[in-house]
Order: sequence, then C-alpha cells, then structure tokens
Amino acid sequence: MTMRCRLLGVLVMPLLMVVVGCAQRPAPASPTAPGLGLQVVTTVSPITSIVENIGGVRIHLEGIVPEGTNSHTFEPAPSVAGALAKADLIIVNGLFLEEPTLAMAQANKKPGAVILSLGDGTISKDQWAFDFSFPESEGHPNPHLWPDPLLGLKYAELVEAELSRLDPANANYYQENLGKFRQRIEALDAGIRAAVQTIPPGRRKLLTYHDSWAYFARRYGMEVIGAAQPSDFSEPSAKEVAGLIDQIRQQQVPAVFGSEVFPSTVLETIAKEAGARYVDELRDDDLPGAPGDTLHSYLGLMLQNMEIMIPALGGTVDSLSGFDASPVFSGASPAIYLQ
Ligand SMILES: [Zn+2]
Repeated sequence: MTMRCRLLGVLVMPLLMVVVGCAQRPAPASPTAPGLGLQVVTTVSPITSIVENIGGVRIHLEGIVPEGTNSHTFEPAPSVAGALAKADLIIVNGLFLEEPTLAMAQANKKPGAVILSLGDGTISKDQWAFDFSFPESEGHPNPHLWPDPLLGLKYAELVEAELSRLDPANANYYQENLGKFRQRIEALDAGIRAAVQTIPPGRRKLLTYHDSWAYFARRYGMEVIGAAQPSDFSEPSAKEVAGLIDQIRQQQVPAVFGSEVFPSTVLETIAKEAGARYVDELRDDDLPGAPGDTLHSYLGLMLQNMEIMIPALGGTVDSLSGFDASPVFSGASPAIYLQ
C-alpha cells in the first residue's frame, strides 16, 4: 500500500469503518453464483481463523503464510500469485506486516478484487504502538493487534461487513457467525481480565523474545518491560543482553517468554543469568495443534497463551476454564492452512 493510500485510509477510516487497500471500492461483486462462494485469501493464520469463523462453510478460504514461519520477513513464493489472482477478496493485517505479499497482491489481483487491510481499519495512527522491536524511528508500528481480543473482534467485524457487501445473499449467515464470535470474544476478554487480576500487581510484567504483546498489555494493564528481538530480527547485542538481565533482576520478573516461531538460546541464557524462569511457548501467529483440532484457532491460540503466561507470572486461569475455542459455525471447514 502506498503512503498516500495509507494516509487516505487513516483519514477516512473514522467515517467508513473499513479501509479497502488502494483499490476503488467496487460495486458489490455480481459474481457469486449460488453455492460457489467467494474466493478469499488471507495471510497469517490468526487472521485466517477469524475469517474462517465468519465465512464458515460459505466461502473458499486459503491462508498463504505457512504456520511457523517468520511472517515479518515472509516473501511469498511465485506460485502464490495464482491464488492471489483468483481471489475475490484478499485480507491482510497491514501495518507493514506483509509488504511483499501486498505488492504481489496489487500486481496480480483480478479487476474488482478487494484488498482489505484489517489492522489499518482497526486502529488509527495515534493508537499505533512503537516499542523495542518496532521503534518509532523506523516508522512501522507494532502490527500485532490480534493478541488483544477486542481488536480481534474488530477484525471480525470488518470481515463480516466486507463479506456481506461482496456476497449479500449470505449476509445473514455472516452476521449470525459474527454474533456468536462476539459472544466468545466477550467471554475470553472477561476471562483474561479476571485472570490478570490474580497476578500479583508487581508481577504483571512481560519480557518476551518476539515483541507481540503491546496491544494486549495496553488492554489488560500489563507492562511490556522489554523484548529481546531487535527490529531487524537478528539476535540482541551483548550490551542489550546485559541490559535485559539487569532489568529482569531489578523488576523481579518471575518468568520471561520465548516464542514458538523464534527459538532462541539467547533469551534462555538471559533468564538463567537473571534468575527468572524461561517459558518457551508463547505464540503470536502459529496456531496450536493441527488443522481440525479445536485449539487450532485464533480463540485456541489466545486460550493457550493465557494458560502459559498467567500461571508463570503467579496467577491462575480458573476464569477461563470451560472456554470454548471451537469454530462458531457448524460443518466441516473448507479453510486451507499452509503448514
Ligand atoms: Zn509477529
């Protein structure tokens, strides 16, 4: 997306509530012969799962960023151009997360196809978070909005609105799914809020390897005290490592968190030196389990993250027991997740 387009999106966003890439908003697509379904392409798997929950069995859905890869540096293979060319709707996170994919989408999309940028439609520029791995000096905000479930719900609302606009024959179905998804998010939000309250106040601090908890922390009154991963996704320098060890000691953080996608011995060493527990399992865009498993979903990702994070900091997740992470629609999902 060009800077001009992005600025335009930010300016019109409060009025429109959706931002549709750089394309002119096309008239509702004719298109979908009954039963055929919109062709929808998504990028990272939490977004694929949110779209899956809303589109259910009435869309064709393909996620193109394989799970377990570094989505920040992901370059789509040339073969992905074919999926992008067939799509009626291409849904990205935006906020500079998937620039090579976005460029490929712009170059290959069919006339009238829509690019929907969820992150850009969810927060305005004055809400952008800059931090350790996403410094303001580089101009790209932290793009991880979805670990905040209420921002994840906003994503779902934008998806419902766009699916209903492009495929009005199925609008009731999409709206129904959104209603059920909203209830799940409300339960998840209430459960997380209560769980965070069980962490002793001085321990509501996060030090992670990958810096994906900025908006989550803002929502639930936790503090991100640092991240080990530099903005170029290399390893931290010796000086940075020493600084992190000091910080953990001073703030008496009980645990530090690694990421499934970025195994790092550096954070393990930092934790050991500082006397904190190293927990190597948080995820931001690699869903737990395999496609078809209940936990292999955005809701499952968040539930599992809480089950790992909250007890490691001294709290309990009783408030989330019985939370249902399964899809909100009935029937077998046609979504394709690349593994
Ligand atoms: Zn990430």
